[in-house]
Amino acid sequence: MARIPENFVQDLLARTDLVELIDARVPLKKTGRNYSACCPFHQEKTPSFTVAPDKQFYYCFGCGASGNAVGFLMEYEHLNFPEAVKQLADRAGMEVPESRPETTADRQKKDRLQSLYDLLSRAEKFYVQQLRQAPERQKAVNYLKNRGLSGEIAKQFAIGFAPPGYDNLINGLSLTETSLEQAVTGGLLVRREDNNRTYDKFRDRIIFPIRDSRGRTIGFGGRVLGDGKPKYLNSPETPVFHKGQELYGLWEWRQSRDRSDRLYVVEGYMDVIALTQHGVPNVVATLGTATTEDHARKLFRQVNEVILCFDGDKAGVRAAWRALESLLPALDDGKQVRFLFLPDGEDPDTLVRQQGPEALRALTDKADALSTYLFRHLSEGLDLETVDGRARLARLALPYLDKPAGPVYRALLTEELSRLTRLDKESLIQLKPAPAAPRPTPSTSSQAGNAYGYGHGHGHGDEDFGSPPPTEDDPGMPYPEDFAFADGGNNGSSNNFTADNRNRIRPNPRQNGGRKGPLTLAERLVLVLLDYPSLIEQHPLPDNIEQLPLPHIDLLVQVAGLCRQNHSAAALLGALMALEQGETLSRLLKASLKPPMEEEMATRLWLDALSQLEVSRLEAALTEVEQAGMPDPAHWQALHKALAEARQHARKPFD
Ligand SMILES: [Zn+2]
Repeated sequence: MARIPENFVQDLLARTDLVELIDARVPLKKTGRNYSACCPFHQEKTPSFTVAPDKQFYYCFGCGASGNAVGFLMEYEHLNFPEAVKQLADRAGMEVPESRPETTADRQKKDRLQSLYDLLSRAEKFYVQQLRQAPERQKAVNYLKNRGLSGEIAKQFAIGFAPPGYDNLINGLSLTETSLEQAVTGGLLVRREDNNRTYDKFRDRIIFPIRDSRGRTIGFGGRVLGDGKPKYLNSPETPVFHKGQELYGLWEWRQSRDRSDRLYVVEGYMDVIALTQHGVPNVVATLGTATTEDHARKLFRQVNEVILCFDGDKAGVRAAWRALESLLPALDDGKQVRFLFLPDGEDPDTLVRQQGPEALRALTDKADALSTYLFRHLSEGLDLETVDGRARLARLALPYLDKPAGPVYRALLTEELSRLTRLDKESLIQLKPAPAAPRPTPSTSSQAGNAYGYGHGHGHGDEDFGSPPPTEDDPGMPYPEDFAFADGGNNGSSNNFTADNRNRIRPNPRQNGGRKGPLTLAERLVLVLLDYPSLIEQHPLPDNIEQLPLPHIDLLVQVAGLCRQNHSAAALLGALMALEQGETLSRLLKASLKPPMEEEMATRLWLDALSQLEVSRLEAALTEVEQAGMPDPAHWQALHKALAEARQHARKPFD
């Protein structure tokens, strides 16, 4: 898909009123200069979800969810980035541009795909109509009635019927020579090799249309009505249908008003439909394939918790283990997977039909956490009371410890293995194979999405989110004591810039977990700029300060650059969200919900900080010159003089 130009997104955000957008979905109440509500992304009784109208972003003090209008739509309506942009653009009456002009080949390919989608959509309508009109329909109707399906749910999933016979679809759609070929490509017809004739692929079957994430029908599943084989038949791989990537029921769930942070993954079409009908709409199925890593990433883009349901039989156990192996690399901190094994002879469909959704929920509460299942499976047949059994478990489990994407996950697995094997963590770490090459980054669409303010702090980076949103009574005036410098930026003698210091400049936010404590100098200056972007024009930053070993100094330099292009706080934040991820952004957003300080104070803080930065810059330059040996005496002297002057000029802020 063509990339959406960045300046278009900025324009779009400038024309969108976030308060209006959110208020239409989650009624907001004005509290001081911001708006608040109970958070739509986590369960709560007192409102900690805050929307800042001046800066056009939202932030939840409870779960850390934060972002701008695009991020909100993505998260609230389960859209991907292009979909959210499209929806905002429609609202604003704007046309989403393509960044590269379309070529004739692009156009032709698009047309071919479009006519394939059209044909598949016509086929879907044909099958639905046959369920109502075909002379042989009664068998299908009886089957669905026996399974307890309501007419409403059949309509929601567009369940249809392919009558017996070899040319019902061909005649029903009046396919011409060209469209016959297309129907073969789309997996609706099969061409016989011996006589080159085509016939219907789906015959005497209940038909389940498979929709993609945009709701387009891309393939079909068919369940046999007689004794024919196989029991379930799926569309083959086609230009629009890729089994290993699609999840049956995902679009239907996204259409529902359900806002669960959990998705059930079941095996069959009927399981999805029955669960949805019986009050568990947050359910999808893989399409006759094992759960793949693509599936896992897709699932985790929607929710933080995935419950995999399996039959308790041997095939179920095999499928569960395969699923675990493909899920591990997609497992980031804050995401959760659990394994639910159903009692023998039970499937999700029969369970909810006979015992209701509570029975499923009760089983879910007892479902295995991923680590429990992993070690239980690997320990099978081993006697952990013996040294030998524990050593075997260590050898079997070691290859899995480094697989999860999330460092906290990796640490927890190591800890658990250490407990089970009674080997201390250090011994286990020594047994580990050498670290693998850097992981490939996830797909571009999720990155693009995240870049535009789709953030969710579940599970990691949770700092002290305890403070409620500021209210009229408590305007949350944080200055100046909240503004105490955390990083020694005002310490004129910090010129020991060792390699060690440099390594600590940008701590990995994940490894660092929840960093507490006051904001760094650079973070605070970014905040000042968010409120008073014009300061940068009047009092620019000293040159070359990005070299200074101060935390977040590169962020400050980037934001200063952005200030020249974006003159409102909202535009600046949008651009910032595109740059900055994770903890730093989250801290800044949270801090930025407080009322801005007075302009006079902001200017003073800014000027003081500039002096401090100038001192640091000169110190660094001097150290560099001295370490290089044999400094040019004139240059050296000039630096010393400048430093002395700068130190004199620099006052400590707020003294
Ligand atoms: Zn929340």
